[in-house]
Amino acid sequence: RRLPVDGSLEPGSRTVRAACFSRVQPQPLLRPRFVAVSPRALALLGLSAEDVLADPRGAEYLSGSRVLPGSQPAAHCYCGHQFGVFAGQLGDGAVCYLGEVEAARSSDPQPRSPCGRWEVQVKGAGLTPYSRQSDGRKVLRSSIREFLCSEAMFSLGIPTTRAGSLVTSDLFVKRDAFYSGKPERCSVVLRIAPTFIRFGSFEIFNPADDFTGRQGPSAGRHDIRAQLLDYVIETFYPEIQADHTDRKARNAAFFREVTVRTARLVALWQSVGFCHGVLNTDNMSILGLTIDYGPFGFMDRFDPEFVSNASDKKRRYTFEAQPYVCRWNLARLAEALGTELKGSTAGSILDEFIPLYKSFYLDNMRRKLGLVRREEPEDEELVEDLLKVMHNTGADFTNTFRLLSRVCCPLVEENSECDVGSVVNLILEQCASLQELKVANHPTMEPCELEMILSMAETSPGLFNMTANRPEVAKQLEKIGRLKELLETNQEDLKLKQRDDWWIWINRYRKRLTRESDGVSDPTAVEEERVRIMDSTNPAVVLRNYLAQNAIEWAENGDFSEVQRLLGVLENPYCVQPDLKLPICPGKGAPCETRGST
Ligand code: AMP
Ligand code: MG
Ligand code: MG
Repeated sequence: RRLPVDGSLEPGSRTVRAACFSRVQPQPLLRPRFVAVSPRALALLGLSAEDVLADPRGAEYLSGSRVLPGSQPAAHCYCGHQFGVFAGQLGDGAVCYLGEVEAARSSDPQPRSPCGRWEVQVKGAGLTPYSRQSDGRKVLRSSIREFLCSEAMFSLGIPTTRAGSLVTSDLFVKRDAFYSGKPERCSVVLRIAPTFIRFGSFEIFNPADDFTGRQGPSAGRHDIRAQLLDYVIETFYPEIQADHTDRKARNAAFFREVTVRTARLVALWQSVGFCHGVLNTDNMSILGLTIDYGPFGFMDRFDPEFVSNASDKKRRYTFEAQPYVCRWNLARLAEALGTELKGSTAGSILDEFIPLYKSFYLDNMRRKLGLVRREEPEDEELVEDLLKVMHNTGADFTNTFRLLSRVCCPLVEENSECDVGSVVNLILEQCASLQELKVANHPTMEPCELEMILSMAETSPGLFNMTANRPEVAKQLEKIGRLKELLETNQEDLKLKQRDDWWIWINRYRKRLTRESDGVSDPTAVEEERVRIMDSTNPAVVLRNYLAQNAIEWAENGDFSEVQRLLGVLENPYCVQPDLKLPICPGKGAPCETRGST
């Protein structure tokens, strides 16, 4: 790599100036051993899972406890805006880059790396100059979550970094007392991607921040910024490099491509109910991949205000905010590119983001509903109203979409499988109870703040109206309205209302389905195709929190079989589930045909 090296071999937290990485050595684990491996991810590197598992040194190599000859380990220096504020230098505090491996030829239709190589990292490999107050280690539970979710996202067709293996050890560290207070096993995930360079990688060149006064450790080094930008475009966007002789035009094309990929990515997250949880600029891949799995969550009951990260007290990273946060992050990337990108060009590309996102999202949602033969202007409202019904009734996001393929078009009614009533019943069985809805509709705003707003409604209606127009206040008031209604109803009446809501929406959907067959002589063939598309678009299983937690608890007790079983299930997310009621019921695994990975 032709990037500047700062020359130091001594790890230890410090500011690293004028360098994009520091040489480090991964620190060995004590008695490393495999928890699980992902055969498909290892195949990218030309490794067979069997060989790796059979090799007595396999776990040592794949955890960075033993370094392969030729490897030049390093930690990457990056900055980031965390929760809306420029945080200065962050960097690989627990990750160690091991090197790059030439992509293997494979018969499996694998994703390709644009540069023909895969970057290989170990996460949890010990101290680096970027470890700050922490120890550079990762524990079993966070590693299981990253390992499983990386591979689950890949199987869902969502761009992501990959996880080749998960190794645990007899080295212990103490983490937050909230979890158990007990020492936990140091564990290492082998991560694979064309590159892990992030938006934040360009923020090391940021000048002093207006708000915090912080600056990037390589502020003003436009020469290095140019080198990094050239490296990224030449290596990972070779078509863009080849298409442009003018530097500014090339850079604009690059920024536009990152914008398009990010819009496509977040549209995919929104269509599977995935909440990243820490959408800071240092967790935004320059390739539009899902990167850095921490406090992510797949929603069970649909709630646009879902927050998966318990430490996100200000609720910055709600599910519904993700597209807007991604746009905000792209604006920070544009700023970090500085004079490499004209401000007005960046502005007009950023203006394309939300329309782009919306069109990707609507395409995804149409596909989820099997509406692929024609586009109607009302489709957007049909989708919005479906989500409203899901929210108001507390329906399960994943299972509801999965069930909708069983609703059939009135034109092929003679199909005996088609029974709207039974679909409605199945959806209703998973909807929230009165008590759950009461809890869900509690305002999240501080009680004193709400009280102030409500008293304003009485004393100064003008001011109140201004305040009530703020979207977050309007939402809180809506919640109060719903809560009031709920307090005045009983469980039976609620069920009847939920049933009505679902009948009304499903009948609209069925009308729309008849129009899919407009001008077609064989509506049955259209129906069959629709069901096929829906069942290969709407997953039967996603990595729900309780599934991950269950695997974690087994693994912490020394039994890794549930991690392996779950990986097998998540590798086939569209596999037919005999009983759709199960997945939201904590404590029970999804009954999918499984195969262990090790
Ligand atoms: P994250 O919020 O996980 O993306 O991490 C933010 C920053 O904290 C990054 O610079 C990470 O490298 C660093 N970090 C996270 N966990 C650790 C750890 N266990 N030891 C050292 N640094 C860490
Ligand atoms: Mg991170
Ligand atoms: Mg992390």
